[in-house]
Amino acid sequence: MINHFVLFFQTMITEKPVCVTGASGFIAAHIVRELLALGYKVTGTVRKNPWEYPFLLNLPGAHERLKLEKADLLEEGSFDKVVAGCEYVIHTASPFEMNVKDPQTDLVDPAVNGTESVLGSCMKAGSIKRVILTSSIAAMTDEPESSKVYNEKDWNTMSSLDRNPYYYSKTLAERAAWDFIMQKKPGFDLVVINPFLVLGPSLGPSLSTSCETIRDMMAGVYPAIMDINWGIVDVRDVASAHILAMEKAEASGRYLCSGDALHMREIVELLKTSRCKKHSLPRIDLTGKTGSAIIKGLSMTKPKNIGKYIRTHVGRTLCYDNSKIRRELGISFIPAKTSVIETVEDLMKWGHLKNS
Ligand code: NAP
Repeated sequence: MINHFVLFFQTMITEKPVCVTGASGFIAAHIVRELLALGYKVTGTVRKNPWEYPFLLNLPGAHERLKLEKADLLEEGSFDKVVAGCEYVIHTASPFEMNVKDPQTDLVDPAVNGTESVLGSCMKAGSIKRVILTSSIAAMTDEPESSKVYNEKDWNTMSSLDRNPYYYSKTLAERAAWDFIMQKKPGFDLVVINPFLVLGPSLGPSLSTSCETIRDMMAGVYPAIMDINWGIVDVRDVASAHILAMEKAEASGRYLCSGDALHMREIVELLKTSRCKKHSLPRIDLTGKTGSAIIKGLSMTKPKNIGKYIRTHVGRTLCYDNSKIRRELGISFIPAKTSVIETVEDLMKWGHLKNS
């Protein structure tokens, strides 16, 4: 907060609104909340009528400084009017689903064409100084190598329409954004945030795909503890990272955005301490070489893309270097265990999980 306070006076917060695409999303809603708290004017894009988002319209400062506008990633030119007159655009909108019918039309088209469309609108606007894009760890790797320490230089080269298609959509979208900047030299720069699994409290009623992972562990979707590690980052830290990447003139390139990594066993142990009923938590431990082989076999019975995800992540340790974001943006991450516990509390609050 001190960081923001200093930057507020350094940059004398602009009268021009910051545009946040996909404002209804889990991450974007926190970005909108923080921007309003810092005194910015915000234009958020949504797909339904603005009045259908009371959780955004009732945020502190929203009445005076938040405008919601309809825009769709699949409609060329849809963002032209929305970004006109803005200096900064935070582009978070992208479908986040693991299991889709048609990966090309459901994931890749909106992610890639949508990113190009938003950047094209920014170029036409002529007023934009910087675009901050929400990419993902998915654009860095889709099958972590246990012996490697991942950082901003890493690119996912393995995903395809058939293999982890959500990962593919994020990789292609981020590549398309960098290509756009290189080829068109649009007069604004690009900074990219690459979060891992984002957890924490939700401002709206929808269940995000990332928090669904925790809900599923509590709800009996996973009968066994698997050898899987997740890099975890709190949604409030992800929001701050986007805003600091916007405010700090010297921010550049990609930022791997994750706090601690937790093994599924550690998460299950933590969930045992939560207030929520626990009888559906995984009880069998299928870790180690034999356990992972069994899990991979059983994953064949899961929906195609879930099965693929399990087979590309089970039995792998996860090491990454988050020093760039800590050093350059000054992020100090909320402990992963705090985010997990607060996610469970929040899932109960919104009725996604039943209390004991
Ligand atoms: P989310 O809650 O599902 O938000 C996605 C947003 O994108 C929603 O506002 C959604 O609008 C919008 N959207 C989807 N398709 C669209 C379209 N055709 N036109 C316009 N808007 C569209 O997911 P999230 O977790 O906040 O994710 C936000 C961003 O972070 C995504 O780019 C995602 O890939 C990235 N990310 C998320 C995580 C994570 O763990 N949560 C990790 C890394 C990266 P509707 O509300 O109308 O559906």
